[in-house]
Amino acid sequence: MNRRRLLGALAGLALAACTRRVPEGVGPAAREPGDGGGAGMAVQRRDRVVLPEDEWRARLTPDQYRVTRQGGTEPAFRNAYWDNHAPGQYHCVGCDLPLFDSDAKFDSGTGWPSFSAPLADDVVITHEDRSLGMVRTEVRCARCDAHLGHLFPDGPAPTGLRYCLNSAALTFVPRDN
Ligand SMILES: [Zn+2]
Repeated sequence: MNRRRLLGALAGLALAACTRRVPEGVGPAAREPGDGGGAGMAVQRRDRVVLPEDEWRARLTPDQYRVTRQGGTEPAFRNAYWDNHAPGQYHCVGCDLPLFDSDAKFDSGTGWPSFSAPLADDVVITHEDRSLGMVRTEVRCARCDAHLGHLFPDGPAPTGLRYCLNSAALTFVPRDN
C-alpha cells in the first residue's frame, strides 16, 4: 500500500470513528432549541445572537458558513486546529463566545479538534441529529446556534465524553504568558 492510499484509509477510519452511533441517553440531556416551549424547555440564554441568513453569509467565510449555518463537516486532518497543542481558548466563530479550553483538548486520532468538556455547561447545547441515516448528538453554540460538531460517549476520563468539532466553527485565542 503506498503512502497516499494509506493516508486515505486512515482518514476513512477516522471519519467512521467520528460518526459512531451514540446509544440512547448518553451525554448531557438532549434539548431541542426552539421546539415550542412548555414544561422542561431549556432555559434560553438572554444574550442570544440571532441574525438573518444573509447576514451570516456576509460575516462568515464560505467554509465557516457551510459548517456553522448548514451543518457541514470539514475534512479530517485538513483543518486548522486538529493538531493545535498551544494553550488558549476556542471561541465560537459566529458570536465569539468562549466555548472550549485547550486544557480539555485531547488527541482523539480522528483528525478533528476533540475536547472532553466545554468551558461551562451553558455555552453549548446538544440535540439529536438524525441526518445521514444515523442518530447522533449534535453540538451547537448556545448563543448563536452555530453548528459546532457532534458529541460521542467514548472520550477520556473523567467525563468520558468526546466533543468532535469542526475547526471552521472555532476561533483559537492563544493564552499570553
Ligand atoms: Zn456562537
